[in-house]
Amino acid sequence: MKPASFAYVRAESVPEATAALDRFGEEGKILAGGQSLLPLMNFRLARPETLIDIGGLRDLSGLRAGADQVSIGALTRHLDLERCRLAGPLGTLLRASAAHVGHLPIRTRGTFGGSVAHADPTAEWCMLTTLLDGSVTAISAAGERQILAQDFFETVFTTALRPDELLTEVTLPLLGEEYRVAVAEFARRAGDFAVVAVMVACTVQDGVLGEARVCLGGVADRPVRSRAAEGILAGQPASAKTFTAAADAAAAVTSPPADIHGSAEYRRDLVRVLLRRALERMGP
Ligand SMILES: Cc1cc2nc3c(=O)[nH]c(=O)nc-3n(C[C@H](O)[C@H](O)[C@H](O)COP(=O)(O)OP(=O)(O)OC[C@H]3O[C@@H](n4cnc5c(N)ncnc54)[C@H](O)[C@@H]3O)c2cc1C
Repeated sequence: MKPASFAYVRAESVPEATAALDRFGEEGKILAGGQSLLPLMNFRLARPETLIDIGGLRDLSGLRAGADQVSIGALTRHLDLERCRLAGPLGTLLRASAAHVGHLPIRTRGTFGGSVAHADPTAEWCMLTTLLDGSVTAISAAGERQILAQDFFETVFTTALRPDELLTEVTLPLLGEEYRVAVAEFARRAGDFAVVAVMVACTVQDGVLGEARVCLGGVADRPVRSRAAEGILAGQPASAKTFTAAADAAAAVTSPPADIHGSAEYRRDLVRVLLRRALERMGP
């Protein structure tokens, strides 16, 4: 399949990109890694009149670490994150999550910001942003704004980004050494999107769980925090009994959709199995 014809603009700076978005409105689309947009165009599911290529904007690539947070530039490739040397639990989580994103060629071209803007409910970077209450920076010709994860992901492939806004970075908290983290997923084939994915970040001190964060992907129209599991984990011993109770509770209150990849019941069972597995495997 080939895409419908389109015009092409290569932005040489962020102001050039936002000016082009302003000019083309709904008919203009940002081209980042092209790993989601181009397949959609090839199948004629998307027919933008103009592509605004931001691939050359080096300033939007890489990690900027502050005292207690890290900003990930929109053009940071999945592979950069798989190989990143960030120390501590957030570095562990970035590397573990990136390894689940597609195949090597996709990880080489696809970008963090493209994934967050695309908003697939099982995308690892959408889950991570939700898990850690990340903040999305959006810039338009009119100015800059921050959008919290809870307000950013609206439904499948739909975010709070306006058509004239460019996502420039996502800021996440640097997790302290007391955090234990893990990712667990089930996909039909290696490299496919997960049917269900689970991410956890919990503080553990003297064998007792403190703050507990649990995010589920593939069970709703966007990544969701499992408040049921988090409530059971907080303040309890980090034991098999606690982990089983949290996983059972998360599965019990989840109402996943059914599709060709699995029934609702199958996905609920995956939540139970994967969450228990993630909690048992949490590490620094
Ligand atoms: C076979 C296959 C398997 C895959 N498996 C996975 C997987 O397991 N997990 C996963 O997370 N992803 C997976 N992907 C998708 C991949 O991660 C993409 O790289 C990602 O979803 C989109 O990033 P991109 O840079 O390629 O964005 P593009 O395809 O260039 O853009 C995607 C959308 O986001 C918009 N956009 C991009 N960047 C910006 C920006 N900075 N500001 C505003 N809007 C922007 C575009 O206009 C477009 O609408 C898979 C893709 C394929 C083809």
